[in-house]
Amino acid sequence: GKGNKMKQFDFTKKEALLIQAAMDTETEYLIAKLVGAEKITIENWIFYTGFLGKYEEPVIISRTYQGLINASAATALALSYFKPAAVINQGIGGGHDRRFHRGDIVLGEKVVPMGAVIRSYAAEGDGISGTNFTPLPLEIFDRKQQCTRKVTEFPCDEKLLAIAKKVTATDWMRDGQTAKAMSGVIGSADEWNNELDRIALLRERYHTAVEDMESAAAAQLCYSYGIPFLGIRILSNSIVNGEEFDESVGVDGQKFIIDYVETYSQYLQQERFCDSM
Ligand code: SAH
Repeated sequence: GKGNKMKQFDFTKKEALLIQAAMDTETEYLIAKLVGAEKITIENWIFYTGFLGKYEEPVIISRTYQGLINASAATALALSYFKPAAVINQGIGGGHDRRFHRGDIVLGEKVVPMGAVIRSYAAEGDGISGTNFTPLPLEIFDRKQQCTRKVTEFPCDEKLLAIAKKVTATDWMRDGQTAKAMSGVIGSADEWNNELDRIALLRERYHTAVEDMESAAAAQLCYSYGIPFLGIRILSNSIVNGEEFDESVGVDGQKFIIDYVETYSQYLQQERFCDSM
């Protein structure tokens, strides 16, 4: 029967969707919705395997903890232990673009590691500038090319993004109101920015719509491994709109992810159908 099929699904050998987030408020709802959930602990990190949504898509839910280093460790462990077909890094974030309000969602076009900077020289006594910097290119080992190269941003996968835009088309609701879900740039660093002039500068340089503290780590490793990646962030705060932090929106973000996973399953079914023709 069905249960047996699920028991036989070997997440270490068969492809599944890896869905990551840093905190309980961004993962607990998804874990509760898993069918056939199994908890796997690897070092300090926990992962839940199971089946999600009405098409019972095989997924791995990963709680990464906060910040780039934790997220990179959790990603590296997941990529070597499991066999993710794609990686979604999701959760709450802080708005940079006034068009996005608390509860709105940014679908990542790309992720910019905005904390990686080369600061311009200044002589002793010349003070500290917040604006004299250029992006510090980050080294990745490109598995396909089998060599290292340096990059200043990480792309999100076009197909994964297109699926997210389809979800939006089906009137995604929050508190009985249609919330916005639009594509935009995710800025990511071990930072929490509150200076409006700095946020304006980040927008000018990188066109950031939202900031978070994990997606650059996962995006960088996926870029290196050649695994499709997508970042999705729901605004829990927007200093540019004077909207205070409310982490409970993390639940709405997970509801969006369930819609996403169902649309993803439909997309895979179509793709398999097309492949067989
Ligand atoms: N009460 C929590 C709040 C953490 S919020 C605590 O102290 O543990 C930080 C997390 O939310 C990070 O994982 C980050 O990815 C995300 N986040 C939300 N708003 C953010 C913002 N304005 N800047 C940076 N990260 C933000």
